Amino acid sequence: MNFKKWNRLSDAEILSKFGQEGLDLVHEVEAFALNHISLATSKAQLADRDIIISGMWDINTGKKSDYFHNFSKQECQRVGGDYELYLENMFPNLKKRVDDVKAFRKENYNLEDVRFRKNPGEFPGAHAEVRALDNLAKKRFKYEFENNIPITDEVFDAWLKNDVLGYNRNIELGVGQIKVGMHTCADCFHILDLVTFIKPL
Ligand SMILES: [Zn+2]
Repeated sequence: MNFKKWNRLSDAEILSKFGQEGLDLVHEVEAFALNHISLATSKAQLADRDIIISGMWDINTGKKSDYFHNFSKQECQRVGGDYELYLENMFPNLKKRVDDVKAFRKENYNLEDVRFRKNPGEFPGAHAEVRALDNLAKKRFKYEFENNIPITDEVFDAWLKNDVLGYNRNIELGVGQIKVGMHTCADCFHILDLVTFIKPL
């Protein structure tokens, strides 16, 4: 794996910078990750499926996303699979952001070149933090989403900027479970550029 891992901020630093919600978010994502590790049947299963665990909260309404891991490469490549369904059903304003990143990559990189396919992500939108934000957006704008009522990008972007807090936690294969803070990849960085992340050290 090429992923670099970092220590996260201390509880006291998170509390002072991001408040009680921030600390609660980090603890909940960690609890989810540790439970996930304990349920995995093999290291190979963790390495394939569970590189990042991410959660997103709306600190204004108190709504919480479910917690997600990345889609695996196999899932991303499966025609009619979960990844394809997820993209089709993505919250529209977020989908636009994912499509913008895809278009940018297509225009600026030769995607036949493995360096650009793999670095940062071969499948923009497949990572845990975008899945978590999609889930949170559908909770926050449930009525609009379920009734196909569009919201403007201005409203969506203001929500991202003012209300959304996210945290990524990596999985350490083996015993340690140290240095598990995780930055976003370059694709997710652009897709989620307005979201406040509790970043690692
Ligand atoms: Zn990513």
